Formats: sequence, structure tokens, C-alpha cells
Amino acid sequence: MVDEALHDVAIIGGGVIGCTLAHELSRYQLRVAVLERATDVGFGTSKANSGIIHGGHQSAPGTLKGSLEWLGNQMWGDLCDELGFGFARVGALTVALTEADLPALDRLTQHAHDKGVPGVQRWDREQVLRAEPRLTPDLVAAVHAPTTAVINPYEACFGLAERAARSGADIRTDCRVVSMGHSGDTWAIATSDGEVRARFVLNAAGVHAGAIAQMAGLDRYRVRARKGEEYLLDKRLRGLVSRIIYPCPSPTSKGTLVIPTYDGTIMIGPTADEVDDPEDVATTASGAARVIAAAKRLVPGISERDVIAEFAGIRAVLDDEDFRIGPTDAAGFFDVAGIQSPGLTAAPAIAVMVVGLLRAAGLELAPRPGGLAEVERPIHFAALPIIEQQRLAAVDRRFGQIVCRCETVTEAEIHGAIERGARTLDGLKFRTRAGMGRCQGGFCTSRCMELLARDLGVSLAQITKRGGGSWLVVEHGDPGMVGGADPVRGLGGAS
Ligand SMILES: Cc1cc2nc3c(=O)[nH]c(=O)nc-3n(C[C@H](O)[C@H](O)[C@H](O)COP(=O)(O)OP(=O)(O)OC[C@H]3O[C@@H](n4cnc5c(N)ncnc54)[C@H](O)[C@@H]3O)c2cc1C
Repeated sequence: MVDEALHDVAIIGGGVIGCTLAHELSRYQLRVAVLERATDVGFGTSKANSGIIHGGHQSAPGTLKGSLEWLGNQMWGDLCDELGFGFARVGALTVALTEADLPALDRLTQHAHDKGVPGVQRWDREQVLRAEPRLTPDLVAAVHAPTTAVINPYEACFGLAERAARSGADIRTDCRVVSMGHSGDTWAIATSDGEVRARFVLNAAGVHAGAIAQMAGLDRYRVRARKGEEYLLDKRLRGLVSRIIYPCPSPTSKGTLVIPTYDGTIMIGPTADEVDDPEDVATTASGAARVIAAAKRLVPGISERDVIAEFAGIRAVLDDEDFRIGPTDAAGFFDVAGIQSPGLTAAPAIAVMVVGLLRAAGLELAPRPGGLAEVERPIHFAALPIIEQQRLAAVDRRFGQIVCRCETVTEAEIHGAIERGARTLDGLKFRTRAGMGRCQGGFCTSRCMELLARDLGVSLAQITKRGGGSWLVVEHGDPGMVGGADPVRGLGGAS
């Protein structure tokens, strides 16, 4: 009899690291499980970051994150071609605002030289201002990196997890790991959704990796939480800058950036503040003031009045500021910990590295016949030429029904997202952009809830923003009422 609970590899955490690990392992004939406590993959730090695939020259060579940054950078383009998530190599400028910043520029070009990152060059003031005329005229010089890219990080997580699942991986959401024990060559992992057993366990729990390591009997490191607040500006500022603008970095942070996101908004941030609570994703007045002041130093035309949304994410930081990846003293239990920035960039390279370490530890890797399963690329109606939009609307009337007016998201895309696994408003938002525009869901939230309720066969009161207790309405009397006379339970924090 097949033991349904027995897996070759259990991955704890379904962030971008867990998703790239599952995707990479799904190339082989293995039983792989991802155990994620949230309602969807990518709902931790992996959805709350700057969305940059760093150019390869940011982290110092000689560190693990330095080598994996450049390797990962080179892998995202192919993954995007295969899975169809948002990705564009827009390039970056790291700007020196004073003569004292110039040695930092030299360090970046030296990193690029040492790692073989092509095209990274010093630009003088005139060249910079010709390319980016909205930058401060006070700048001294900059380093240009054509290899830097922007990505939709949550779309990437969904795409990777979906293809891993279609290739046989068991992706379990709402599945919190609570304890584990080892006996013989098997780990028994107790979760909120029953027991999972596995020969190998990969600890990819982000800022909670320390707690998971303790469950495995390891007490070797403390993961510090370093919060980063980000602020999104109105889309009317599209084109303000066309490359990512970095200040010169400090030893612990790349500083506050001005980022032209893949979707055409400008984002500014992040901060870098140590916090005691790893769940503290509140934005703050002080964070907003610091981000806006720092962004204005680079691009003086930015105004606090343009902020339409804000969020914060938590970096998982180890004392040596590097990634920790590899086997531990607990047989079969591997660290994939301390994955702070550039963790998103490095993720595909981390996955390849971990698969190599598992092979070295005795995991047999027989290629999956036929390779990874094909997945259909999601349709983004707003990005299509009008002729293609008309064709789609003619074959499926739901493409003619606009649900989110700010981002031009159609009813067909909402249904498609639910078919692909969206269960919450955030799940819809991050798959389709419904609710991400200027009005921040003011018009489309109730319609999205109705479509979710209808497709999932549940009542409106069961729809949540992001799972758990984040309900949006209570149901008494008229169960079909959204907001209105019924008390709204609250959206529970920043978007
Ligand atoms: C503000 C900010 C900006 C950043 N910008 C960039 C950038 O531009 N480029 C870049 O390369 N990197 C960036 N980073 C870093 C990058 O976001 C992270 O390195 C990456 O997201 C880490 O992914 P992860 O999968 O390790 O963590 P997470 O996404 O946090 O995933 C860990 C998962 O583990 C789950 N989990 C925790 N405990 C349990 C449990 N007991 N049971 C089950 N599941 C559990 C969590 O719910 C979570 O989903 C940024 C980080 C921040 C905070």
C-alpha cells in the first residue's frame, strides 16, 4: 500500500524560495510536499518586496549571496519565458550624490568585474542626466547596470507553484508546521492539516526559520527581523524614471530606491529597521517620511501626495548577513535560511544548489519522463493590443466585462485566477491586479467578492482578504449584502 503521507522531500515555507525549490525538484521523479501556513503561496516576504532582480554586481563576491545573486539573475529570464509572469530588464543606475560616494561606485564596478557581470559601467553626470532627466542635477556620477530587471514576485511564486503542482508536487496551503520528530530515516512533521512524513526536510520558512530549526532540535542561530516599508505612487507618474535608481549602498542596506515596477507604477522604498516582532508589517509615519525624503534626494519631483498604497515586508537576517544553505547536524534536515535580499534574485540558483546538496546526501534524482508539465500562461487583458482584446471579447463575452476599472481587469481573468487557485481577495489581486490601481479596490472589491463566492460556492461572509480571520463582511439578515448596513469586519492592514 502506498503511504500517502511519505514524501522524499518536504519543504517548509511556500515563499519564492519554497516555490523555486518545489519547481526545481519537480524535474525529477520525487514525491515533494510544500507546507505553507498561509492561504496562498508567496504571501510572506515574497509578495512584500521591491520586485527587483538585482544586476549581479550588488552583493560582494566571496559571500554566498554574492555568487547566487548573479547566477539567479541569469535564470529568471528563461523562467519568465516558460511561465509568463511579469519580467523586464530595465537596467539600473546607482547614483553618487557627493564625491564621498565615489568609492562605493568603484566597489560596484569591481564586484561586476570580479563576477563577470557584463556591461556594468561608470557614467558621468551628463550621461546620467541625458538618460534620466528627472534625476537631481546635484548628482556627481553613477554606475549603470543593464542586467538589472523588475519582476512581479507574487506572479512568479504562483507560476512556479502551479507548474510544480501540475508536475506532481503536493502544495499544501493553510498548513502550519507545529512540531517535528526524526526516527530511522524519516521525519514526521505535525501540521495544522495532519502529519506529513519525509526523508528530507528543507527549512525555507523565512523569518520563522529559527523557530522551525528549533522544532528539529537545532538551536544554532537567531533570525533577526529587518522591516522594509515600500510606498507606491500614482500611475500618472509612469515614465518618471525608466531605470531603477539606487543611492550608494550602506553595509546593511541598498538604501531607498526609486523603482519603475513591471506594472508601470513607481515604487519608492524600502526602509531597513530591525523589529522585535517578525509579524510586524505595519507601515509608519516615520518610515513614510524617511522614504519620501530619500526618494526626493534622488528624484526631486516626487511628492508625498502621489502615494496611493503602502506595505511592509520583513527580511530574515542572520548575524553574518549571509545566506545559510546546506545540511545540518540533524540528519536529512537542511537550512535554506537567512534569505534576505537578494533572495528573490538568487532564488532559482538557490534551488539548483539545494538539489545538488540533496543529491550529494543520497537523494536519487531520476528525471521526470517528459520533463516539467506545461502550464498555460495567464492572460493579462490590459497588456494586449486592442485587436487582440476585441478578438477575445468576441469569443468570450466575459472579456468584455471590466471588473477593475483602474487596471482594466476583466471578468474572464477573475474566473481564470480562481480556476488557478485564488481563494481570497488578495489571491485575486496578486494574480490579476484587480484592486491594485488608484482607487485601491474602491469600485471592484464587492464584484470580486461576488465572483469569488459564486465560483467557490460559498457565502460572501466566508470570503477573506488573505485567509485566516481577515473576513470582510458579517452575515446577518441579508447574506448577500456587502458593507451596507452590516458591520464591516475590516480589511486588516495595508495592502
Ligand atoms: C522590503 C523588502 C524588499 C526586498 N526587495 C528585494 C528585491 O528587490 N530583490 C531581491 O532579490 N530580494 C528582495 N528582498 C528579499 C526577498 O524578498 C526575500 O529574500 C525573499 O522573499 C525570501 O523568500 P522566502 O521564501 O525565504 O521567505 P518568505 O516569502 O517569507 O516565505 C517563507 C514562508 O514560510 C512560511 N512559514 C513560516 N512559518 C511556517 C510554519 N510554521 N509552517 C508553514 N509555513 C511557515 C511563511 O508563511 C512564508 O510564506 C526584499 C525584502 C524586503 C523585506
